[in-house]
Amino acid sequence: MPEARKPLISGNWKMHHNHFEAIQTVQKLGYRLDKDDPDFVDVSVHPPFTDIRSVQTTIEGDDIPILIGAQNCYWEEKGAFTGEVSPAFLNKLNVALVIVGHSERREIFGETDDDVNRKVKAVFKHEMTPIMCVGETLEEREEGLADEKVLRQLKAGLTGVSGEQVGSMVIAYEPIWAIGTGRTATTDDAQAMCAQIRTAVGDLSGSEAAAGVRVQYGGSVKPTNIAELMGAPDIDGALVGGASLDPDDFAKIVQYRHHQL
Ligand code: PEP
Repeated sequence: MPEARKPLISGNWKMHHNHFEAIQTVQKLGYRLDKDDPDFVDVSVHPPFTDIRSVQTTIEGDDIPILIGAQNCYWEEKGAFTGEVSPAFLNKLNVALVIVGHSERREIFGETDDDVNRKVKAVFKHEMTPIMCVGETLEEREEGLADEKVLRQLKAGLTGVSGEQVGSMVIAYEPIWAIGTGRTATTDDAQAMCAQIRTAVGDLSGSEAAAGVRVQYGGSVKPTNIAELMGAPDIDGALVGGASLDPDDFAKIVQYRHHQL
């Protein structure tokens, strides 16, 4: 019997909060989180690169139970890659989790499935955990192509990744039409896709990987909808954008277990 998957709630700050604001935000979050929260849920914040060192010293100095995350990285360790950030440098800052293949990276910056796959492998090589994002556009959903798109991204992203690694990683299902729009997938739709992702992981990487992989839902998650989403059997956490910028809202999301359904 595999161990139960511990939920992971991750805050993706995108290009918000300079390093002063970042320090304040994690300090406020530290006051709002309860001592026993880490017994129930892992929490990560993913600030802009320029904030990471400040967030690290605050979290470590004040003993705040939050994992440090990044929003992206390059796949090479060092070299003539102007403007890119090495996974090795992130590891040195005690980054634990790196978001890879967020839809904004794919859609705005042209990241391909192959790029995402290289990044997944690079994150593992540098002893961090990837949160690999997959998800369909509204058009793809309306045309009945959502499953095909998500399975294609999944297969490509996991190519050459061992079953053991897949079982330890995080996959975030983020329907693009729900990101930053206030429009959340219904719990049934989110659960259905997360279950399909788990089944596909089983086919691609084996049953232990399927049992271990944590599948997050992302797309307009708020204090008011998190408890219902977390009640779904294949949803193991959330990737939260807008609502993670506010320490009150993010703490309420982390403490979803106290909410009335
Ligand atoms: C995201 O950025 O991954 C996201 C889900 O954003 P939001 O929660 O704002 O929809």
